[in-house]
Amino acid sequence: MLLIERPTVNPPGLGMYNSTINRLLKGTAGSLALGVFLIDAFTPLDFAIAVLYVVVILLVALTGSIGATRVAAWASLLLTLTAYIVSPSAEDEGGQLARCIFALLAIGTTTLLALRNLADMDRRCQAEAALARSESFLAEAQKLSKTGSIAIRVPAGTMVWSDEAHRIFGYARGGPVHLGLVMARVHPDDLAAAHRTHADMLNGAPLVELQHRLLMPDGAIRYVHLVARRSTSDGDNHEYVGALMDVTDATLTQQALHRTMDELAHVARVTTLGQLAASIAHEVTQPIAAIVTCGESAQRWLQRTPPDIEETRDSIDQIIRDATRASDIIRQIRSMAQKAEPKYIDIAVDHLLADTVELVRREMQDHQIAAVTELDAGTAHILGDWTQLQQVLVNLMINAIQAMSETAGRRRLTVASREIPGNAVLLIISDTGPGIPAQAMGQLFNAFYTTKPDGMGMGLSICRNIVESHGGSIEAESPPEGGAKMIVRLPLRTAAVEAVEAAA
Ligand code: ADP
Repeated sequence: MLLIERPTVNPPGLGMYNSTINRLLKGTAGSLALGVFLIDAFTPLDFAIAVLYVVVILLVALTGSIGATRVAAWASLLLTLTAYIVSPSAEDEGGQLARCIFALLAIGTTTLLALRNLADMDRRCQAEAALARSESFLAEAQKLSKTGSIAIRVPAGTMVWSDEAHRIFGYARGGPVHLGLVMARVHPDDLAAAHRTHADMLNGAPLVELQHRLLMPDGAIRYVHLVARRSTSDGDNHEYVGALMDVTDATLTQQALHRTMDELAHVARVTTLGQLAASIAHEVTQPIAAIVTCGESAQRWLQRTPPDIEETRDSIDQIIRDATRASDIIRQIRSMAQKAEPKYIDIAVDHLLADTVELVRREMQDHQIAAVTELDAGTAHILGDWTQLQQVLVNLMINAIQAMSETAGRRRLTVASREIPGNAVLLIISDTGPGIPAQAMGQLFNAFYTTKPDGMGMGLSICRNIVESHGGSIEAESPPEGGAKMIVRLPLRTAAVEAVEAAA
């Protein structure tokens, strides 16, 4: 651990000044002690001059040194006794002894008081040093974690900020701080949310939390996360203490990661389209060929005398159906190939599944795979990006097709849906391929995990990312009857809307 020494609070030069004073005090005390001893030992005085050793002890105690005070006390006691022994014997022997004992008591008492005082001072100094050290640790920890502490009183709006909070808000230390200074920094687009949090505080909410942006005077944007707890309340007056985290770096990294994931998902989509190129070409050319045939038939029906209007109408209806089918496929391919921001729309799950099966139907035919659809989600709707979710399903279906193309037995791809009422919808893609070995289960969704010679191992990792960004989850199973089962769980529109609104 890095220990930060508390910076000295003494101005430079004060230490030297103190040591000069201490030397002076000790010198004066020594001279006084010598004077007292000489008078006490060699002059026939009839008063307790040795009591003046008390002054000697107090002078030494003023230096703040417990050791030196003890030495001065023992020296005073010794000098008093020596003076008593060597002093010329006086007539008043009893009085001399009494004066000596009186002086010894005075020295002893003064020493005890001085030492206790010095010990108290020492404890206080140590406590102050420990407090200063822990304050310095706290300030350093706040700086490293970019977390400031704040306190606010509402409705008064008066605040207390730590040094780090000053840095985050971009104000110099010194002046009084208040809510107005915070609001002046809040990004205009986040002001409404900041006012809502303030209103929650005015209502005495026990805990408030807000992630918002700050617009700094130089135009820079900072992302901050505030969490505050109500600490005291007095009627309508509340005090909140909390932490303000500068999450700019984390937010920018997350945004960059999202952008990279979007790019990657787009590349993967285009790669998937490449894999489907042959069947897509067929899916488009087949209805176009049918249109030509129906057009020719319509012409023949019209050339009859009389023209067969009924048959002509049937042929034209068929032309419209085929043209719609071809344009539907082109539209889907275009939207998969396009690189666009995710657009969250209302999606009927069974419609999405049925539409996606059509995209890979030809691929299934080419591999002699039977498609079975068990769409039981009824009216279940979700909130999601059509293209992204279609990408997930196409990916799972192509994986299933590729897995089954290696098996000799029966090949069947089942696409099923099921609603968990009031909660979620399950989209299940199962196959009759070799299944997933138990040891592979834990790595399946990891990036770059692949067992295919030309595989990238990004498909399932991208699928999981897309599903999770929709508030859902994806898991793989190897059912006892064989094959693999991929289960995508997505929140129903109602639950999804609530989650989005709560996050807003
Ligand atoms: P890639 O298709 O490039 O290998 P994925 O992330 O899509 O990448 O798949 C990772 C691995 O998961 C595949 O290589 C395969 O081993 C396994 N896997 C995926 N789907 C199935 C499935 N339906 N049956 C068996 N194994 C599968």
